[in-house]
This record gives sequence, structure tokens and C-alpha cells, in this order.
Amino acid sequence: MAYDLVVIGSGPGGYVCAVKAAQLGLKVAVVEKRSTYGGTCLNIGCIPSKALLHASEMFSHAAHGMGDLGIEVPAPKLNLEKMMAHKDATVKSNVEGVSFLFKKNKIDGFQGTGKIVSAGKVSVTGEDGKAQELETKNIVIATGSDIAGIPGVNVDIDEKVIVSSTGGIALDKVPEHMIVVGGGVIGLELGSVWMRLGAKVTVIEYLDTILGGMDGDVSKQFQRMLAKQGMAFNLGAKVTAVEKTGTGAKVTFEAVKGGEAQTLDADVVLVSTGRKPFTAGLGLEEAGVALDNRGRIEIDGHYKTNVDGIYAIGDVVKGPMLAHKAEDEGVALAEILAGQHGHVNYDVIPSVVYTQPEVASVGKTEEELKAAGVAYKVGKFPFTANGRARAMLATEGFVKILADKETDRVLGGHIVALGAGEMIHEIAVLMEFGGSSEDLGRTCHAHPTMSEAVKEAALGTFFKPIHM
Ligand SMILES: Cc1cc2nc3c(=O)[nH]c(=O)nc-3n(C[C@H](O)[C@H](O)[C@H](O)COP(=O)(O)OP(=O)(O)OC[C@H]3O[C@@H](n4cnc5c(N)ncnc54)[C@H](O)[C@@H]3O)c2cc1C
Repeated sequence: MAYDLVVIGSGPGGYVCAVKAAQLGLKVAVVEKRSTYGGTCLNIGCIPSKALLHASEMFSHAAHGMGDLGIEVPAPKLNLEKMMAHKDATVKSNVEGVSFLFKKNKIDGFQGTGKIVSAGKVSVTGEDGKAQELETKNIVIATGSDIAGIPGVNVDIDEKVIVSSTGGIALDKVPEHMIVVGGGVIGLELGSVWMRLGAKVTVIEYLDTILGGMDGDVSKQFQRMLAKQGMAFNLGAKVTAVEKTGTGAKVTFEAVKGGEAQTLDADVVLVSTGRKPFTAGLGLEEAGVALDNRGRIEIDGHYKTNVDGIYAIGDVVKGPMLAHKAEDEGVALAEILAGQHGHVNYDVIPSVVYTQPEVASVGKTEEELKAAGVAYKVGKFPFTANGRARAMLATEGFVKILADKETDRVLGGHIVALGAGEMIHEIAVLMEFGGSSEDLGRTCHAHPTMSEAVKEAALGTFFKPIHM
């Protein structure tokens, strides 16, 4: 049977594209080589990491955060096996949810490795080596990304002692010392998990700041908060070797600007230096699909590759490697294929670091505005001046809003706080509608809420906050 659409890969890009296309009346198949749907995000990424972040945060809260609220509890005991079972159950219910959506929307699922034979033809090879061919009007490549190693360093990731994020969410005991190579989102999130559960955690990062690319105020203050929690940092440091020893592993590094080599021993080393697009085995060369100079599939403004009838979305194409970016591209492409006008606003894609406190941002950073020569205003409001934050003993952090100096249109929002990842969306919605900081500052916010700090920062952008 010929399909309207065959999607290769069932991560948030692929499965959402498939569901939306089926909702719009297209006949859809999805090819997935994993035994479960949901891709990196649901199986080994966003979802399991957030299950562990939540559980470890509760553990840490029970140990350190209750006494000042007048709740005296005995020191909590860790049952790591049960915590991991909670994570696995969370993954299971989410991946089953995707199977349910496929059934509900009459999407055919094929388990196996998908390869593009030519435009209009995809072969699927199952684990038994048997292949079948699917015919389709359109092909969507949504094969995601894979771990990138450390540039120039040969690292043997065994997922036990030297681990990627995949092993980092499945350790069977809390390491005494964990070295995290790479101070980006994944390293800081998983480093936080194991630090809360009792590990000493040392982050080694090539750049002079953690969370490279985030607003400078945010990364500086956030680093101080993590250091206060006990995380150690070696910034501006280049890792030159990661080797297994009899008892664990040792990491050799030196200052980027030059200096003596140093070594640190750890029982677990987490390599979290980023991810790279995954295109192996797809038959792209034979099909004539072009890649860009960073190995990503090249696409036009409508997600079409250089070959008619072949499209690509998600981590395998340019843009931030985020699940919601992949999802929104999936929806936009399904709409385009159904004859509608799908579109993603890349200026308004929020990003969240799910640590404690959380870090959330949307739009431009102050550094980006400076570099682009845009005249801007800044409004900042600390949670120390927010009543709800005081009531919850959650006064760490601030809201920062950046608006155009002339028009007052909001260009960026940055929040460090408990619940920042939920609060960021009011700034995102405002930006989607081209709103100004005065619009935000004059919007009535319920009292007492953490979100009042967003309103106050907006007030600070076009005039003055009330409570400061
Ligand atoms: C530890 C971790 C935590 C993360 N946390 C977050 C987070 O909190 N928020 C967020 O937004 N993002 C997060 N991410 C990133 C997020 O997971 C990715 O951006 C997202 O999964 C990309 O979706 P995708 O659909 O492009 O690809 P993927 O989710 O990578 O899915 C691609 C799928 O394609 C399949 N595939 C590949 N090749 C073939 C083939 N030839 N045939 C058949 N199937 C194939 C793969 O098996 C995979 O299932 C995290 C990532 C990691 C690793």
C-alpha cells in the first residue's frame, strides 16, 4: 500500500509529525529501530532525566529543606533501586502513550532500521535481517542525534565507569566522586542528580562559563548557586585524556590558555560534551541528500531537503537540539504536507535547565543584543523581594527582561528560580504576540505568586518596580 508519508524515527519530531499528519487526513507510517517509540527524549533523555531530577530533589529537600519550615524528619534513606524503578515506570508509561496515539490515529508502525532507497521508497530492515519496502509520496527524516565525544580525545564509553547521559541515568550506585566533562545543560542536570544523592561532583568545562550561550548574568549567578550546593568547577579547562584505572577513571586536563597538565580521579566520569546529528545508515549519499558542514541535513524554509519528496526535522537539522523545537517542526511540516501553512517562530523557543533552582530563558540574551548593536533596556527583579518566594524559602534567583529601547517590545526573558521553567511561558506568549514590557507590567498577576516577579521585572524595564 502506498503511504502519503513515511516518517523515519519516532522521537518528539517524528511521532508528533506523524500524529498531526494523520489528524489532517494523511495515510502515515513510522519506522523506528528502537523497540519502543519516543526517541531519545522519552527513552533516554528528557523524561528519565526529569524523573531522577524530581526524585533526587525530593531526597535533598527531605534532608536539608524541611527543618526551617518547622518539619522535623529523620534523615532520609536512599533506595536507589526504587528511584530507578520510578524512572523506568515513567519512561514506560510515556512510550506506551505514543503507541496508543499511533493506534488511535491509525498510523502503521514498523520496527526496524529505515533506509531511503530513493525518493518515494523506504526499506525497513528488522532485527532478523529481513527487509521490506514501503512506498510513499513523502519521506520525513527525524532520526535525531547521538552523543558527541570529546573533540580530539579517544574516549572508551563503557556506560559503567565512563558514561554518556545514557549510562548517567542508570548507575547502580551513587559514585563517591563524579567528574562531569562539559558544563552544559545535560552535565549540570545529571551532575545535580548525583550530587543531591551524595556524590562529590566536579565539572570540567572548556569555556570560561557554564551554560555557554545563556545570558551572562544568568550563567554567573547560577554557577555561584551550584557551587554553594557543593558542585566544584574547573572552567577554561581542556580535557586531554579520560582513562580507566583499576578503581575508576582519571581525567587529565589543562588550562585552555596554557599551563601544567592536571589529573583528577573519579569513580565515574560523565561525558556530556554535546550531541551530533544522527544520519548513519540512512542511505543519504545514495539518495543524493545534502548535509551541511556540521553534518546536519540541509533543509529549506519548509523543511525540504535538496531532493523532492524528502524532508527533515528535529535534532538532525539546524537549530537548538530541544524536544519542543522538534515537535513544533513536526507539526509545521505535517501542516505543509497537508497543504496548510505550517511555521515555527525560531525567535521564541524557550529553553529550561531543570536543576534547583531552575534556569529558563526565551529570546535574546544581553550579549546577543549588544553584539547585534540593538539598543535595549533591562528590567531585573530578585526573588528576595517576592512574598511567595519568602513564604516558600525559595528566594534564590531573579527575573531579567530585555526590551527594545525605542519600541519597548520584549526581546528576551531570563529567569533563575524555583519553577522558572513554568514561569517562562508568559514571557514566551507575550513575545509571540509582539508584546511590550508595559503590556506585561500592566497585566494583573495573582498575589502572592512567583510570577509577580515577572511583572515586577517588566515594570522595571519600562519604569520602576513597585516592591524594590
Ligand atoms: C539526557 C538528555 C536529557 C534531555 N533533556 C531535554 C529536556 O529536558 N528538554 C528538551 O527539550 N530536550 C532535552 N533533550 C534533547 C531531546 O531529547 C532531543 O532534542 C529530542 O529527542 C530530539 O528529537 P528528535 O525527534 O529530533 O530525535 P530523537 O528523539 O533522537 O529520536 C530519533 C529516533 O530515530 C530513531 N532512528 C534513528 N535512525 C533510524 C533509522 N535509520 N531507522 C529507524 N529509526 C531510526 C532513533 O532510534 C530514535 O528513536 C535531552 C537529551 C538528553 C540526551
